Amino acid sequence: MPASAPPSTLPPSTPPAATPLPPFATRIRTTAPSAVREILAVTAQPGMISFAGGLPAPELFDAEGLRAAYDSAFARSAGRALQYSTTEGAPELRAAVAARIDRQGLATTADDLLITTGSQQGLGLITTALIEPGDAVLVENPTYLAALQGFELAGARVIPVPCDDQGILPDALAELVARERPKLLYTIPTFQNPTGRTLPADRRAEIAAVAARLGLWLLEDDPYGELRYEGRALPRLASYPGAEDRTALLGSFSKVMAPGLRLGWLRAPAALLRGAVLAKQAADLHTSTVDQLAAAEYLRTADLDAHVARVRDEYRIRRDALLSGLGAALPPDSTWNRPEGGMFVWARLPEGHDAMALFHAATARGVAFVPGAPFFARDPDPRTLRLSFTTHTAPEIHQGLTRLAAQPLSPQVGSTPHPHP
Ligand code: PMP
Repeated sequence: MPASAPPSTLPPSTPPAATPLPPFATRIRTTAPSAVREILAVTAQPGMISFAGGLPAPELFDAEGLRAAYDSAFARSAGRALQYSTTEGAPELRAAVAARIDRQGLATTADDLLITTGSQQGLGLITTALIEPGDAVLVENPTYLAALQGFELAGARVIPVPCDDQGILPDALAELVARERPKLLYTIPTFQNPTGRTLPADRRAEIAAVAARLGLWLLEDDPYGELRYEGRALPRLASYPGAEDRTALLGSFSKVMAPGLRLGWLRAPAALLRGAVLAKQAADLHTSTVDQLAAAEYLRTADLDAHVARVRDEYRIRRDALLSGLGAALPPDSTWNRPEGGMFVWARLPEGHDAMALFHAATARGVAFVPGAPFFARDPDPRTLRLSFTTHTAPEIHQGLTRLAAQPLSPQVGSTPHPHP
């Protein structure tokens, strides 16, 4: 009660009967908290070598370059940098992002883009624009957990599309679309989270054709595509015949610049973009002006491509460090993939093993990963796990793998849960 409230006329021993508060919305009561966030809380303990979070390496952020870009944004017009701005985004940032996407082979103009507060917001805006409670949404199985959460919050029926180790199976997709009449397919075609998988070009073409033939929106999430360490870049799904007029493409500066900026973008056909702009007005009016202008300054004055090339060179070393030591660290007969980019390796323990049990044993030895089961929309595979290789240096990765390989804890070792700082 505020200090200025009038004194109660009732004696303090008989408080007024309280009427229960109205309940929270069903969507909040029925959506489970992210299992991975809870797992990440354990893995943030000091001294932990974590293959769990998908965190970019902080020592590789171009902190000086970004600080100079913020200085420059203020110097050019502090009044503008600190003022409200348009929902669509700062024109110079939209133009610079469009030019970059265009250079990468997907014809794009500033008008095709909406600047978002991280690509996570783009996911939410498209969901608001397209999904009614009860609508079917198709996803890869497993897929990005926060996307699953967003679709569930919107009351969607989330249906996994059968996948193999290269991603979505187009024939199975066509069958599901015909049967379930979904509004939308959500896909991360390149260096997927959590599996690191990349959808081959022929499947991209087939998926685009299925979407056009059967009437389906495509939501292409591409935060990792620029982190390619080997092999040739594939065109984005949005560029294939049939997909051009029905794909919402999400991009992000989180993995190539810094996630704390919370800057992403949505590229979509005009009518869908207008719907997303409407949803964004209601969500946050617009993305931070000062962050947008600083990013635009960075793109104008620094060389983001050169920065990304440096990051790629280091991440390649880290990926190779993880891959070279995994065989000795996981139980015999475990399997894992070899992604050509991104942040994640996906592994599977042999019959009779459980990734959650290994997680508990591993964190007690000061090393962490994420069990794979929470990423599945259906039929979770308890033997799977996701290992991120970007956060630690190669020597730390070797040390983490040595901890993972250690024999099950003896009682004496168990008394020092984090033997290494
Ligand atoms: N999509 C995928 C597949 C992701 O892995 C992430 C973050 N890890 C996001 C979207 C959200 O990224 P951000 O909001 O930082 O752009």
